[in-house]
Amino acid sequence: MGSTSIPCLWITFCIHLCCFMDTGKAQNAKEVILLDSKAQQTELEWISYPPSGWEEISGLDENYTPIRTYQVCQVMEPNQNNWLRTSWIEKGDAQRIFVELKFTLRDCNSLPGVVGTCKETFNLYYQETDSEVGRNIRENQYVKIDTIAADESFTQGDLGERKMKLNTEVRIIGPLSRRGFYLAFQDVGACIALVSVKVYYKKCWSIIENLATFPDTVTGSEFSSLVEVEGMCVSDAEEEADNSPKMHCSAEGEWLVPIGKCICKAGFHQKGDACEPCGRGFYKSSSQDLQCSRCPAHSYNDREGSWRCDCEDGYYRGLSDPPSVACTRPPSAPQNLVYNINQTTVSLEWSPPADTGGRNDVTYRIMCRRCSWEPEECVPCGGNVGYSPQQAGLVDTYVSVVDLLAHANYTFEVEAVNGVSDLSRTQRLFAAVSIATSQATPSQVSEVIKERVQQRSIQLSWQEPEQPNGVITEYEIKYYEKDQKDRIYSTVKSRSTSATVNNLKPSTAYVFQIRAFTAAGYGTYGPRLEVTTKEEASATIVSSEQNPVIIIAVVAVAGTIILVFMVFGFIIGRRHCGYSKADQEGDEELYFQCTKTYIDPETYEDPNRAVHQFAKELDASCIKIERVIGAGEFGEVCSGRMKLPGKRDMSVAIKTLKVGYSEKQRRDFLCEASIMGQFDHPNVVHLEGVVTRGKPVMIVIEYMENGSLDAFLRKHDGQFTVIQLVGMLRGIAAGMRYLSDMGYVHRDLAARNVLVNSNLVCKVSDFGLSRVIDDDPEAVYTTTGGKIPVRWTAMEAIQYRKFTSASDVWSYGIVMWEVMSYGERPYWDMSNQDVIKAIEEGYRLPAPMDCPPGLHQLMLDCWQKDRADRPKFDQIVGILDKMIRNPNTLKTPVGTCTRPISPLLDQSTPDFTTFRSVGEWLEAIKMERYRDNFTAAGYSSLDSVARMSIEDVMSLGISLVGHQKKIMSSIQTMRAQMLHLHGTGIQV
Ligand code: AMP
Repeated sequence: MGSTSIPCLWITFCIHLCCFMDTGKAQNAKEVILLDSKAQQTELEWISYPPSGWEEISGLDENYTPIRTYQVCQVMEPNQNNWLRTSWIEKGDAQRIFVELKFTLRDCNSLPGVVGTCKETFNLYYQETDSEVGRNIRENQYVKIDTIAADESFTQGDLGERKMKLNTEVRIIGPLSRRGFYLAFQDVGACIALVSVKVYYKKCWSIIENLATFPDTVTGSEFSSLVEVEGMCVSDAEEEADNSPKMHCSAEGEWLVPIGKCICKAGFHQKGDACEPCGRGFYKSSSQDLQCSRCPAHSYNDREGSWRCDCEDGYYRGLSDPPSVACTRPPSAPQNLVYNINQTTVSLEWSPPADTGGRNDVTYRIMCRRCSWEPEECVPCGGNVGYSPQQAGLVDTYVSVVDLLAHANYTFEVEAVNGVSDLSRTQRLFAAVSIATSQATPSQVSEVIKERVQQRSIQLSWQEPEQPNGVITEYEIKYYEKDQKDRIYSTVKSRSTSATVNNLKPSTAYVFQIRAFTAAGYGTYGPRLEVTTKEEASATIVSSEQNPVIIIAVVAVAGTIILVFMVFGFIIGRRHCGYSKADQEGDEELYFQCTKTYIDPETYEDPNRAVHQFAKELDASCIKIERVIGAGEFGEVCSGRMKLPGKRDMSVAIKTLKVGYSEKQRRDFLCEASIMGQFDHPNVVHLEGVVTRGKPVMIVIEYMENGSLDAFLRKHDGQFTVIQLVGMLRGIAAGMRYLSDMGYVHRDLAARNVLVNSNLVCKVSDFGLSRVIDDDPEAVYTTTGGKIPVRWTAMEAIQYRKFTSASDVWSYGIVMWEVMSYGERPYWDMSNQDVIKAIEEGYRLPAPMDCPPGLHQLMLDCWQKDRADRPKFDQIVGILDKMIRNPNTLKTPVGTCTRPISPLLDQSTPDFTTFRSVGEWLEAIKMERYRDNFTAAGYSSLDSVARMSIEDVMSLGISLVGHQKKIMSSIQTMRAQMLHLHGTGIQV
């Protein structure tokens, strides 16, 4: 066969090889090469069969790099079948294989004498195997890929020389299923030079797109297939929600159709194809944000990659605050808190805080605490108190607090809060006020029960109102005939929670309503209760209204009963009984009054009998002494607890008789109990009992938490409203009315002998027989022989020991003055002698500061020289009740004179308008020691003095409160007199 080849052709072919070589296109980065004949420097050693066919020949490429080629040119002989088989090619991941052939092929026309045998094509085959097979070529095991023809062949050059053109053909095989394959070239009589064979497959190379990494991906097996590939987020990036990154690898090894993406996590931002941490002082709160932002106001961070910044000390981020807003702090306290009290309702109003803490969600909350009169003892108000519109979360700067207790001391704190208040550990800032509620009338009597219904009478009982707001001294039962056109009301009064209404018509429907009365006045009527009296008894019984015999009999029986009652009462505690008619607010009332009379224990031969007549003997084991609270004449006064069988444990005051007492001392000591035990009134201190059968001997009294009134007032100087003070006075007057009604003359009524309980209820106390003589440090011996508390005592009692209820009224007037001046000493530091002299000369105490004129007038009335001209306690209670009901009458014009000009009482009051100098005036009021103070401050005329305010007086350096008050009272009187004289107002 070799003899039939054309060797000269090869030379030409080789010489020209460099001219037709591919000029070296850069290898496509998407291709993975499995075989490249050009790249192999050594012999290829492919299998050629028959050996005379394909021949391996070395050549040079364009860079003169040696290459290996195969040639065949058996064109002269017919029936050529020359096979060339490549080495085994492992396919790897490939599914579609590309075969690129570069070859030259001589056209038969250019070869002389080859007609008939020369061919211009060759065939390409492949065989799939899992491993290398033997060197034999079995044609039938090969699959034909294609017949390859040349596009170009040798052509004539411009200069007549022959140029060989390089043909490039690419064929694709696949999908392949075995591990590898062989390629085979079948020559059937052509003149071919196989310059290079390249076998490759295509891949999409790893890439980062949208912050996701897509790995190297082999293309699909089909020409049209796209391979979907999931991306992996680069570090510090995360997939966007519901949008995971995907791409598609095309058959051509190109990434197509990107879907979804990754985004940099919180604290990181994108730089190129990576996520970088935010720098110090910057943050990125969410992966959604594109950029890192600078830390907002009042926050910082000192590390990289932060998703938020930390708040500076004292600043906070609210729970719902995004990291992008500035850190804030709790607001300052609300400002300008003002309040208004209306009985048991307190309205509070304030201005917003100066500093809202940098937020606009400021609201307000109210803290209410009820305090005992000891300032430390405050407890939260609890759920009984109402707030309008609400207690917390207030947007507006006001609130009304309702249903407070009357006569109580409250502290309200108004706190401004914002979204970070509860996070802050700093101290709460609030505005606070302490308020004492005024007296309030009792709430409604709602539960009324008909106990007994007769033809002419109905007995009712009821529960005390839920909020008595004080001590209920009386109930008023109002009733009328239901069917009566011109509804005429009748009223009946009762001191207990039941009453029988008499003189009703039989078979008649009546409507009843009940209201309670306290020092604060009447409460509102409760709901109506309709009750019908029983039918008239049968006609055979003659009506008592018509039958004189029955009337006489009834009168006789009633008379006998009353007589028995009176006699019996005289023995065990004398009582006055009888019908009494009173008029209250136009309602005429008729009620049966029964008043006990006081019995002087001294009238008992055996004082021990008197004690046991009026006082209950207590078992000492029921009493527990806790602490000493005062010193009495006969021993210590202690507080403690008492628990009687079947009763609730209660606080008590215990007066003890010191050891080593004489029989007389014991008698005198127990005498107080014998007196006190006869009294039963809400404004008279109540005796619980005595312990005489053990030691120490004790008198057990109800416990009055706030002690004696004078000390209590001094302690709470200026803290009560006028209504509250008048409420206290009303209580004392009611207690005194009761005592005087019983025929008891106190003789030592003074604020120090009035006790105050925790509800501010005042009760008259100190009933010892010898008290005025021995017990009272205020009592002094007078020329009339006895020991008398001069400043509190009426002239006739000082002068000739005429002690009566009228002299108690005088003392009551002094108590009024003590109360209104918060425990000031009557007549200040004047000596007793001077007091007696001044009183005899007609001088009376001026109105205390801010004392309503009406009250001072009542004091002056109590100090009438002629005791018959003084009001009775009953009248005093009435006057005070009217004042309480009409608080307007208690208003004092601020800074104006409160001293009324009364011709009767004024005649003896020093006439300040007659003084010629400040010195003379100071002398008259015994304050001449301050003469220099006035001069130094430039107060040279009485006119200038009359214009002075309390602040001016204090600025003179007068530090004693008593002296300040005395001077101020005198100035007020002086001003009133000037006003009276000249009709000119003096503005202070
Ligand atoms: P007396 O011996 O009654 O003057 O009492 C002496 C002091 O004991 C009084 O000034 C009160 O401070 C106190 N005291 C007397 N009785 C009571 C009481 N019932 N409750 C509370 N303190 C009382």
